[in-house]
Amino acid sequence: MEKRKQVLSCIQPTGDMHFGNYFGAIKNWVDLQNTYDCIYGVVDYHAMTMPYTPKKLRENTWELIINLIATGIKPEHLFIQSLVPEHAELCWIFNCFCSYGQLTRMTQFKDKSSHSKAEHADDFISAGLLDYPVLQAADILIYRADYVPVGKDQVQHLELSRNIAQRFNNQVGKEYFVLPEPLLTEIPKVMSTADPTRKMSKSAGEKHYINVFAEEARIRKQIRSAVTDTGETPSGEMSPGVTNLFSLLKASGKMDAHASLMADQEAGNLRYVDLKEAVAEALVEISQTFRERKEALKADRKALKQQIKASSFEIRKRAQQTVKEVKELAGLQNVRF
Ligand code: ADP
Repeated sequence: MEKRKQVLSCIQPTGDMHFGNYFGAIKNWVDLQNTYDCIYGVVDYHAMTMPYTPKKLRENTWELIINLIATGIKPEHLFIQSLVPEHAELCWIFNCFCSYGQLTRMTQFKDKSSHSKAEHADDFISAGLLDYPVLQAADILIYRADYVPVGKDQVQHLELSRNIAQRFNNQVGKEYFVLPEPLLTEIPKVMSTADPTRKMSKSAGEKHYINVFAEEARIRKQIRSAVTDTGETPSGEMSPGVTNLFSLLKASGKMDAHASLMADQEAGNLRYVDLKEAVAEALVEISQTFRERKEALKADRKALKQQIKASSFEIRKRAQQTVKEVKELAGLQNVRF
């Protein structure tokens, strides 16, 4: 049998998981497990690049692990980045294959460093923030990934990873790294139900995201109060709020079951209350299963931690092999025990 292609993707441990994260990233990860050899990382080294607290980082890391397993990621595909310290070692080596100028031109650095300046009076912008895409290149290349599922905002970083791989290959005179390709799947962009002109996001505050694990009553309340039509949309067009509700229905796989709603919309006699009821029902159904799985996982945290440490240990072996070969090619010494 032909070897499955390698897929790698990572996520930062930064708190609650909302339906934007789920429909826009995690659900795709879950599905990819059927077709590819998948490795998914909870990247705590990355989460240190912005101001943070150690206690929260530790808590968020395990919370995200639980959330990922509860939503359908297989534990054996998961690792915690700091349990594979070779990522940091490869990052250092890659730093020497990437120019300072390239890093300062990264859009995410420009955005986050100006954001950080506005929020924090002490103007602290860590060198880690500048170096973020190099660590990301290490995350990807350490597992010799063929494909990286990325959103459009990450395409520039993936291009940098390819660039680093290419420069490394040229320098050592060997096509050692395959150049990773983006895996651009059609994924929905979920908007805030409280303000459908902006993305559903944690950073905008609690009313702008719906937690995947929220209680049924809260989900229903958030959907019931979703903005539908503010009267600003030209007649004959669908307003951003209604578009978003239909898109949530589609992402939940319930569009066919509610085909009459779209027909009503087209005929101009859709009752928003019916659309909201259908969306709330769909989200609650998804959430219910996830919440039950989460409770079960939380009941035995010790076993869960053990399991993730074991999977990280297994995944680490692959990282160690790459770093060993890279060090040899780069003229560095390998430690032998
Ligand atoms: P947040 O904006 O809430 O902080 P993150 O930036 O941590 O979310 O995003 C984690 C993942 O979820 C990324 O892959 C991102 O592309 C995806 N994602 C986040 N918000 C949305 C959204 N509203 N719609 C679609 N995908 C999203």
